[in-house]
Amino acid sequence: MDYKASENVQDLQYFGEFGGVNPSISDSSTYTFLSAKTMFDTFEGNTEGCYLYSRHSSPSNLYLGEALAELEGTESANVYASGMGAISAVILQLCSAGDHIVCSRTIYGGTYALLKNFLKKFNISTSFVDITDLESVEKAINPKTKMVYCEAVSNPLLEVADIRSLSKLSKANHIPLVVDNTFSPLSIGAAKLGADIVVHSLTKFINGSSDCVAGAVCASKDFCLSLKDVNDGAGMLLGSTLDSLRAASILKNMRTLHIRIKKHSENAQFLADRFVEDGLKVVYPGLKNHPGHTTMKRQMNLEYGFGGLLTLDVGALERANALMELMQKEKLGYLAVSLGFYKTLFSAPGTSTSSEIPLEEQQELGLSEGLVRFSIGLDNDIQRTYTAMRGCMETLGILNEKTLLSDNQY
Ligand SMILES: *Cc1c(COP(=O)(O)O)cnc(C)c1O
Repeated sequence: MDYKASENVQDLQYFGEFGGVNPSISDSSTYTFLSAKTMFDTFEGNTEGCYLYSRHSSPSNLYLGEALAELEGTESANVYASGMGAISAVILQLCSAGDHIVCSRTIYGGTYALLKNFLKKFNISTSFVDITDLESVEKAINPKTKMVYCEAVSNPLLEVADIRSLSKLSKANHIPLVVDNTFSPLSIGAAKLGADIVVHSLTKFINGSSDCVAGAVCASKDFCLSLKDVNDGAGMLLGSTLDSLRAASILKNMRTLHIRIKKHSENAQFLADRFVEDGLKVVYPGLKNHPGHTTMKRQMNLEYGFGGLLTLDVGALERANALMELMQKEKLGYLAVSLGFYKTLFSAPGTSTSSEIPLEEQQELGLSEGLVRFSIGLDNDIQRTYTAMRGCMETLGILNEKTLLSDNQY
């Protein structure tokens, strides 16, 4: 891919009021006008560069939005108070009562619950499909379908969506392709591959310090403006606006995203390779026998690697829990949900971040109860981490299981 996301983001310079190397933070919720006429025009959306009220926009949010638009290579981007704030705004902007959505069946638990349960209230229905099976995606589209929705790399099963093909299919059906790129910023340029709208939970890798919740929508200028419309914009009216102070701190953290992603990927690839050698059931898109490996390789920016997430199936929930508790005790990471932190985070998605998905469906998807999701940290000496993790698994008898050696799928 010739698009230089990091370089473009770094070339975006903003100076503070007194020549500061970071932009000044807009510490105001409302803005004065010299003329009443300009205030009216701003309400009508006709005045570029004028600020009205901070739920609509603020300088700090616009700076962060511009950086995110550069990251994805879209015309524009809006920022929100959470990833779910961004996702719900997009869906409610595009769908009315009676409409339909085609969605990947392996997605973040919160998005799944929104589509499956909450949107019932508005008579908006969703068909959940195997996103890697283009035929079943196409079959699910009907005249009421308003979007195809998926994650570039899915949570927690790490399925890889073929964004170019999905984009072609969506375009042929005149509906937008919405891609959640939370797991693979920089590695996958979803918009450049043809996604019409890219959403992010900034809470994860992009902010990278597990100290806030935030989200973003990267899309065309028209769509981003429509979300902010004072009369019928879902972002404006549902009110999940990001605070200016937080927007400013996320922008500063974003400046090191390229270095962090490379290190997360390098460490995750190292561990995945070692776990394969140990005969463990590890899933990582960077492994040659991962079902999405070729698709990912074809559409990724190689220098950023295959991402920081991997899963390990240790067979049973009790064993997964014991392993996580032991690893935490050995200071190898934290038993916590979320991802993209400097420290490795691990959780059992079946009983946490994907617990919204009924057990039966979890099993159908291959989300087994012994699955542990790892967000690999920025460890400086990953060989040392590996040795210690292996020690934990030896203590719990996980490495000696014949069953794990024989039916290693990936
Ligand atoms: C965490 C997450 C979300 C939700 O983001 P919040 O910032 O927690 O609202 C959406 N999609 C994916 C893939 C996530 O991991």
